[in-house]
Formats: sequence, structure tokens, C-alpha cells
Amino acid sequence: MGEPLDIVILGGGTAGWMAATALVTFLPSSRCRVRLVESEEIGIVGVGEATLPQMKNFNDAIGVNEAEMMRATKGAFKLGIEFVDWGTKGSRYIHPFGTHGTADTAHVFHHRWVRALRSGWESDIQEYSFAVQAARMRRFNFPSTDQAAIDSTFSYAYHFDASLYSVFLRGLAEQRGVIRTEGKVREIVRDPQSGDVRSLTLESGESITGDLFIDCSGFRSLLLDKTLGVAWEDWSKWLPCDRAFAVPSERGEFTPFTRSTAMEAGWRWRIPLQHRTGNGYVCSSSFIKEEDAAASLLRSLDAKPLAEPRMLRFQAGRRVVSWEKNCVAIGLASGFLEPLESTSIYLIQVAVLQLLPLLPMKRIDPRLRDEFNRLIDMEYERIRDFLILHYKLNTRDDAEIWRYCAAMEVPDSLNHKIEIFRHSGIIKRYHGLFSPPSWLSVFVGQGLVPEGYSRLADTEPEDDMIAGLDALRTTIRDKVGQMPSHDDFIADYCAPESPLAAVTEEVRP
Ligand SMILES: Cc1cc2nc3c(=O)[nH]c(=O)nc-3n(C[C@H](O)[C@H](O)[C@H](O)COP(=O)(O)OP(=O)(O)OC[C@H]3O[C@@H](n4cnc5c(N)ncnc54)[C@H](O)[C@@H]3O)c2cc1C
Repeated sequence: MGEPLDIVILGGGTAGWMAATALVTFLPSSRCRVRLVESEEIGIVGVGEATLPQMKNFNDAIGVNEAEMMRATKGAFKLGIEFVDWGTKGSRYIHPFGTHGTADTAHVFHHRWVRALRSGWESDIQEYSFAVQAARMRRFNFPSTDQAAIDSTFSYAYHFDASLYSVFLRGLAEQRGVIRTEGKVREIVRDPQSGDVRSLTLESGESITGDLFIDCSGFRSLLLDKTLGVAWEDWSKWLPCDRAFAVPSERGEFTPFTRSTAMEAGWRWRIPLQHRTGNGYVCSSSFIKEEDAAASLLRSLDAKPLAEPRMLRFQAGRRVVSWEKNCVAIGLASGFLEPLESTSIYLIQVAVLQLLPLLPMKRIDPRLRDEFNRLIDMEYERIRDFLILHYKLNTRDDAEIWRYCAAMEVPDSLNHKIEIFRHSGIIKRYHGLFSPPSWLSVFVGQGLVPEGYSRLADTEPEDDMIAGLDALRTTIRDKVGQMPSHDDFIADYCAPESPLAAVTEEVRP
């Protein structure tokens, strides 16, 4: 079988520890040795606090006990994202983690809804989403495992303290064999012939050699950018925000959803955790002064701030390739898309899981590298389009940034999606993040109701169809009414030695 592959991970933020834990969990130690270098002095970004439902699959796959993780990270549950003032000022909708309609009618549901609207009947599409209704009523329970049940039509994600999540994963990874080295990288040594990275030299003088290097050094991108000079593709003409101000506040309303409120030069997040609320203002320095943005964030808080706002600079975009020579960048070292749809940790997860089957034996075959780059490009571009959609569809006229975004040219791939939906309600399904229910909630939430609908919605008489919609709305309301409150659920689930946690771990799929 030959020598094991020596993998060196540079960086111990969310990206570094997710990669390290997955590698030692899925690969036998006889086939690969994993070493991680990080510097406490440099620290981590630590602001990624909202996730997507895919995170649960990742945690399950690496053998994380959910209740333990929730306790350790002061976590909460998330059923979606509420967008306030995005379409127009005063508007409010939720992008839920789930479908509209029942499990078996979800694919045709919105066409029925449009048909009913066109006949003069009026109703809010959000009333037919189980996840939206649960979020609005601040309720939570795990989805039913009965695929036909209305309460099986949603999934959930987490809000957590990202710094604590890294610490939690570090514990697992070290137990499973990852060797951690504390130290600052001073120099990166390359092979003069191949250009591959051979070793990292720390300030202590220690040299760490490897066959494959994973660059998780965050915005610094020490290997991919600073050493290999991989070019950056700038997407700021579509996503103009380039600053974030983050500030924690005392615990306020404990919503089972993230809130994103459109502001004068960007948008503001609100993420409730067990012990505090995370807040931040993502804005464009072309449209607001830094001191005004920080002041505006503080004014908007619904509870007492616990620190001064901390500023982070970034640009939307990504490295043109994520794998170059013997270095693979994961996390912020590979690119950045603003956290409007909580996608960064998802991108880490995807990169880690795509890398696993493509890991080389010892010599790197370019076909493995090209396939990885193709998959990551696709994920980035699909998420980029979905984020741009939120800006493009705004109809606000009260601030320069919103006028700019409504008028901007968008990528052809997105334009096509918008136009086909506008015409007939069709949402093209593709591989990658954000399936039709997500696109539907943002299209309609921001005021784009299709002109037509699919003939598949014409199968029953109009009165019967409308009676069915009314009955569904009542069923959802009744069922949601039987759920515990999110507050109570977390108090039980995260209590030390909670019997609820033990039972649910046993019975859940
Ligand atoms: C404002 C903002 C809000 C965000 N919100 C979300 C969100 O809600 N949801 C989401 O999914 N994502 C979010 N993200 C993204 C998320 O924070 C990151 O994707 C995630 O934290 C991963 O970061 P990382 O591990 O790539 O980098 P970092 O956390 O920056 O880690 C970098 C690591 O590299 C090490 N390092 C760097 N240089 C050296 C050196 N010379 N020697 C040794 N070690 C070194 C550091 O010590 C550190 O361990 C947000 C990001 C920002 C900026």
C-alpha cells in the first residue's frame, strides 16, 4: 500500500478543524497522517454563527452528538431566515428550510397557488410553509420521520458560537489522532523544480513537511494567494458590500430563525444564541462611512451591546482555482461570499467532502485537482447568483445602494432563472445548493409573482383546489400549535443529561 499521505492543515478556524476532523474520521491512520498548525496569537475570524441544514448531515457523518454540540456551543435551532425591508420597506418574508405545500404536492404547489391568485382568490404563500409558520410562532420540534406527514416538510440548522464550535471539533479531532502544533508560520518552502510546497517553517524554527497542504489560513490565504499567487476573481460589481461590523448584545427575543434587515447601505444580521445575540451590519464603503455604519448598528440593537463593534474588511469573490499544485484552499482562504444566506460554513463542508474521495495516493494527478476545482466553482457560482437575486429584486428607492442594485446587470445564468420564473413560474432544478423551494421563497418574498403557471396545476376544478389550499393552511396552523416553544425546547434539550436529548438521539433517523 506504500507510505501514508502526510496532510498538513494550515489554520485552526472552522475550516481547519472541520477538515481535520473529517480526514481522521473517514481515512484510516495507516493511509494518512494529519497535522494542523495554528497560531493563537493570530486567532480566528469566529463570526460565522448561522448555518444551513446540511451542517447537521456533516455533524452526523463525523459522529457529533447533537445535544452535546448544542450545549458546548451555546447553540439554538434555525428554521430559516427572515428578510425584513428587502423587497420594499415594511415588507417581511421568511426563506424557510422546507417546502411550501405537502410532501407530495410541493413540486406543483406554487403553480396551484398562482392559478388560485389569477382567479381572484388572495392568500400569502408563506401560510403554506410548515417551517415559516413554526418560525413565526417561535415553535420548534424535530421533523417527523413519516414522509407523508405535514411536519416532515422542513429541516433545520443551527445558530452557534463559531469559536466554541472550533474548540469542540478540536477536542474530537485530537482524540482521533490529529497532531496540533501551536506556532506562527514564518516561511513557506517550495520545491524548486515542481513548485510544490514542501514545508512550513515556524517562528520557533521547526519545519513541518507534507505531501498535501490544506490552506485554511483565512483571509490571509498564505498558501494559495501569498505563496502560489492564484488569481482572485472579483464579484463586487454584483455584491458591493465590503465591510462588516459585528457586535454581541444581551440575549433578546429567542427566535428560531436568523433575521436579515435591509439598511441604508447593506443589511444587518441578528442571530440569537442561548447566552447572547449576535448582530452585525454588512455594508458597502462606497455607500456609507465606517463610523456611520457602526453607529447605525448600535442604534438598531434590541438589547444592550456587550462590546464595541468590531470591523472586518472583505471583497466578494473567490480564487480562480481552489486546488493548485499540492495545496487545497478551504474556507476564507479560497473565497468569500457575504453571510446573507449563511453559506460559508456550507462551502467548507462541501470542499471537505468533495476532497475526501479525490485525495491522491501520493502523487497528485491533475484530473483529481481539475475535478475538485470544477465542483467548487459550480458551488460558488450558484450561491453567488442566489445572493445577487436578493439585491437585484429589491424595489426600494430610498437609498443609493438599492437603486444601484436594482439597475445592475446580473450574470446571464441568473437572468435566465429570473425570466423563466417571471413568465411561467418554472424554477430550474440543478445540482448544488438552493433547491427550487429556496428560489421560490425569495422570488415571491421580494414581490416577483409569476405571470403564468404550469398546466400541471390544472388537474382539478378551481373550487376544489382552493378548498384544498384552505384545508392545508388550517392543518399547518393546528399542527404547529401543538409544538413546544423554541425556548422550552432548547431548555430541555440542552439541559445537562437531558432525557429528551437521549431519546431523540435514539429514535431520529
Ligand atoms: C462578517 C462575517 C460574518 C460571517 N457570518 C457567517 C455565518 O453566519 N455563517 C457562515 O457559515 N459563515 C459566516 N462567515 C464565514 C465564517 O466566519 C468563515 O467561513 C469561517 O469562520 C471559516 O473561517 P476560516 O477557518 O477559513 O478562517 P479563520 O477563522 O480566519 O482561521 C484562520 C486560521 O489560520 C491561522 N493562521 C493564519 N495565519 C497563520 C500563520 N502565519 N501561522 C499560523 N497560523 C495562521 C489562524 O491562527 C487561524 O487558526 C462570516 C464571515 C464574516 C467575515
